[in-house]
Amino acid sequence: MNETDVIIIGAGHNGLTCAAYLAMAGLRVHVVERRKVIGGAAVTEEFHPGFRNSVAAYTVSLLNPRVVADLKLHERGLRIVERRAQNFLPTPDGRYLLTGEGRTQASIAGLSARDAEAIGPFSARLEAIADVLRSFVLRAPPNLVEGFGATAIREAFNALGTANALRALSLEQQRDLLDLFTRSAGDMLDDVFENDLVKALFGFDAIVGNYASPYAAGSAYVMLHHAFGEVNGKKGAWGHAIGGMGAITQAMAHAVRDYGAIIALDAGVRELIVDGDRATGVVLDDGTVLRANYVAASVNPKLLYTRLVPDGALPAPFLTRIKNWRNGSGTFRMNVALSRLPSFTVLPGEGDHLSAGIILGPSLGYMDRAYLDARAHGWSREPVVEVLIPTTLDDTLAPPGQHVASLFCQHVAPELSDGRSWDDHREEVADLMIATVDNYAPGFAASVIGRQLLSPLDLERQFGLLGGDIFHGARPQNQLFSARPMLGHADYRGPLKGLYHCGSGAHPGGGVTGAPGHNAAQVILRDHRAWFA
Ligand SMILES: Cc1cc2nc3c(=O)[nH]c(=O)nc-3n(C[C@H](O)[C@H](O)[C@H](O)COP(=O)(O)OP(=O)(O)OC[C@H]3O[C@@H](n4cnc5c(N)ncnc54)[C@H](O)[C@@H]3O)c2cc1C
Repeated sequence: MNETDVIIIGAGHNGLTCAAYLAMAGLRVHVVERRKVIGGAAVTEEFHPGFRNSVAAYTVSLLNPRVVADLKLHERGLRIVERRAQNFLPTPDGRYLLTGEGRTQASIAGLSARDAEAIGPFSARLEAIADVLRSFVLRAPPNLVEGFGATAIREAFNALGTANALRALSLEQQRDLLDLFTRSAGDMLDDVFENDLVKALFGFDAIVGNYASPYAAGSAYVMLHHAFGEVNGKKGAWGHAIGGMGAITQAMAHAVRDYGAIIALDAGVRELIVDGDRATGVVLDDGTVLRANYVAASVNPKLLYTRLVPDGALPAPFLTRIKNWRNGSGTFRMNVALSRLPSFTVLPGEGDHLSAGIILGPSLGYMDRAYLDARAHGWSREPVVEVLIPTTLDDTLAPPGQHVASLFCQHVAPELSDGRSWDDHREEVADLMIATVDNYAPGFAASVIGRQLLSPLDLERQFGLLGGDIFHGARPQNQLFSARPMLGHADYRGPLKGLYHCGSGAHPGGGVTGAPGHNAAQVILRDHRAWFA
């Protein structure tokens, strides 16, 4: 008998979610994590003496309410608060947009009467589609299978269920759905709005973590992906976990341990053990061998199949395709310790706008140019930066009177060309990002007393995010829904028996959602019950 029922590779939030559901159902679960800390990309660490922040992921909305409830995360200490304002978009020319409950319409009206009328219907259109897609988040998408056996019948019913959910949409809404899956965000936004800042508000959601122009086909889907979420029941809102994103994974880890599962840290998997066509365990970096009936991997699918699975174990066509899995979200992440709050030229002093996601990227044209410059140069010399100052909502992260800010900088090349390395350009690019903020908030650069820098290469080294891809794989149509991570494997089952995908490389993809972990656990439990029936 194996020493455990399930080995889970990776203690990111999806590995933990999967572990919690399986342990809750009575299975023996052993989570093995390469790093010395729990949480993967959802983690809080001290980055400068006395200053802590969410190291990578930094803002909450997509975390699934069902996962929160089932794992009793609130009872286990998680507290999520709303931003006092949702987004603030300053410009160098004195105009700004400030959105949030009760203020969006008025702020837009100050920029464009036409857009103030258009925003309600456009948001309602987006919300109607987001509602239907939300209903797909916690279930496996239809999986394409060959033959006419029991699996094919089950998948036919799954496809029917999906089609029925779509039928709840009117014909006009189905047209919107098609647009959102195929068109560029830029084209859709140009059709509806006239003001640059209003378009940039939505356009940012289309390029965040997406190394593409807002005019790239398919970017409208990325925009939609960021509208799925909610905070404390308020749809589309973004909030903050008190204590940073690590508070989410700490609460999850409590759940996992309370249900009796083991989490081993500093326990990287060197290789998957494969017997015939079945995954039967793992070999850790220190040579320890662990055997199990099932192995669930929460790591990037390309990392799993090209680095951990032994040569010759995979069907050749599968291996060829997964080698082409597209990674690289083109982001540079910084945390800065601040001696004081920034003051923006367009709205000086303190105020609710400092608790918002502050988007420095005042038009779709600016975002498009930023992408093209990054393609040519390696990074954009006029970058798009989102600034978030969590200490405006949370006094646990910095000494009194001082602050931390997350800078999420878009449009840097996943890998630099001409043999250049991110190791040689990290500091220079960080200076550029700080100077960019300083252009909008003079004095910001002087207030920075400590900084942590994560280039795409650093994200790969520290977190196993290949090419720095924050979502374990980009989101073109051929890497979404039934094709995530590959047609024929959308049901969380890998090409080897007993091997499952439980991380962001599976549907519904990236973000701190808990959904792939939840969905994979349901499939493993179904297989387990069938096996022992
Ligand atoms: C810079 C950045 C900013 C982001 N911002 C946000 C945000 O604000 N909001 C949001 O919702 N999402 C955000 N995301 C996306 C989100 O954080 C990720 O999609 C999500 O956390 C991935 O969770 P996961 O559990 O699937 O994988 P991960 O968190 O990547 O966990 C995988 C785990 O596997 C471990 N591992 C790797 N290799 C091995 C091995 N060989 N053996 C054992 N363990 C291994 C890793 O160390 C890691 O702990 C951001 C991500 C990044 C990187």
